[in-house]
Formats: sequence, C-alpha cells, structure tokens
Amino acid sequence: QGAIRFEDVRFGYDPERQILRGVSFEVPAGKSVAIVGPSGAGKSTISRLLFRFYDLDSGRITIDGQDISEVRQESVRKSIGIVPQDTVLFNDTIRYNIRYGRPSASDEEVQKAADLAQISRFIELLPDGFDTMVGERGLKLSGGEKQRVAIARTLLKSPPILVLDEATSALDTHTEQDIQSALQLVSRHRTTLTIAHRLSTIIDADEIIVLRAGVIVERGSHRDLLQSN
Ligand code: ADP
Ligand code: ADP
Repeated sequence: QGAIRFEDVRFGYDPERQILRGVSFEVPAGKSVAIVGPSGAGKSTISRLLFRFYDLDSGRITIDGQDISEVRQESVRKSIGIVPQDTVLFNDTIRYNIRYGRPSASDEEVQKAADLAQISRFIELLPDGFDTMVGERGLKLSGGEKQRVAIARTLLKSPPILVLDEATSALDTHTEQDIQSALQLVSRHRTTLTIAHRLSTIIDADEIIVLRAGVIVERGSHRDLLQSN
C-alpha cells in the first residue's frame, strides 16, 4: 500500500521558470527511493507536490494508481508522514507532541512510540526551556531529540508513506547515525521517499535517483552510483 508514481511531472512556481522538467519515477509499495542532488535541484519541490501543496503544470502523480489531484488534499496528507529537517514542536508536553500524530491513540500506544524512539524519559516535559515561564518543567531539546519526537509522532501516525526530507542533515555525525537507525525502524515496510544532498546519508534505499536542475540525470542502486561517481 502507498505506491507512488510521478509521470512526466512538470512544475514551476513561476510560469517563466520551470523547476521540474519532466520527472518520472516510481516508489513501489513498501519500497524506498532516495532523491539526491545539489541544493536547488528541485528535491523538496517533489515532496511538496506529493503533498498536493501546488498543482502541476503537466504530468500526473498517483498514489496506489489514483491521481492525487482528484483526491482531497486532507486525505492525501493523512496517508503521508514526514520527518523534516527541522521539527517544530508545539509548546506543550512531549506526550502531547507525540499524540498529535494520531489524537485517538491510547496512552499505552503513545508510551510505546516514545519508548521505541527512546524519549520516554522526558515525555511529560515541555520541549523548550523558555516554557519554564508558565511554571511548568521545561527542557531544551537538542536537534536529535526533536527528531526523535518527530519519529515517535510518525510511528504513532503509522502512515503508509513516509517522507524523510533531509531528516538528519542538521545533526552532527554521531547524532545523525543514531537517528538513522531510529528512522530505519519507522521506514521498515513503509513506502519511503528520502531526500538528501549527499549519497552518504542514504543507507538502504532500493533505488537512488540523482536530480539536477529539475531533471533526473542518473538512477540506480547505491553501489551503482558509488562506482560511477
Ligand atoms: P532542493 O530541495 O533540491 O534544494 P527546492 O525544490 O527547494 O530544491 O527548490 C528548487 C528551486 O525552486 C530553487 O531554485 C528554489 O529557489 C525554487 N523555489 C523553491 N520554493 C520556491 C517558492 N515557494 N517560490 C519560488 N521559487 C521557489
Ligand atoms: P495533521 O494532518 O496531522 O493535522 P498537518 O496538516 O500539519 O497535520 O500536516 C499533514 C501532514 O503534512 C503531516 O504529515 C505533516 O508532517 C506534513 N506537513 C505539514 N507541513 C508540511 C510542510 N511544510 N512540508 C511538508 N510536509 C508538511
């Protein structure tokens, strides 16, 4: 469930400047595809289009064979979880922030997601030291810890599709490796689209696509691309 298909997608934010110039690829259900390429290539634009934030100039994006332009944006977004580079948390407890992934979840389910993401020790605390102003106990979460909250939230939401948009690029190397393994937990058996600058941050994508100036210039396995670059 959650197969993604881009068919000759063309798109520009302005009519004079096309950002994606005929992009076609497929992420089979449960598989993982990574898009790499330099800054400005159009990688994040691909994820925004998948979320239906904009209409295409031409081409088609389908999820499980259904054209997403014919589906309500809300239900498209419901089927996709995202772990972004910068996780913005609500000014409320970590528990609340995790539960946001699926408000109907039971306390046990929230707890389990927190355990898996290894953040249960501060689940009752607020994400930011500044919150001590309201008389609650706050803490200052590191970038990696915020990512873990986002991961727990996504585990709880359990969407068929996962988008990792430069999810670890803001972290130091040690934390990055740590979060990578937590992300593997979330992406297992889920259709996963990973967006990254560097090939080195991608561990186990089934296919890697190299995007340059809105065009796919290369595709293959991790090993294929390492050999050719
Ligand atoms: P990447 O993720 O590969 O760094 P993006 O998809 O973010 O690239 O951006 C591709 C191009 O689209 C860039 O030249 C960027 O300046 C431009 N762009 C991104 N967002 C907008 C926007 N909202 N309005 C106009 N241009 C944009
Ligand atoms: P919800 O549907 O849970 O109320 P939102 O409407 O904020 O949450 O977001 C729906 C989905 O879109 C979530 O998976 C969220 O992480 C993702 N999302 C929200 N904002 C952005 C963004 N700027 N870029 C990409 N994805 C986003």
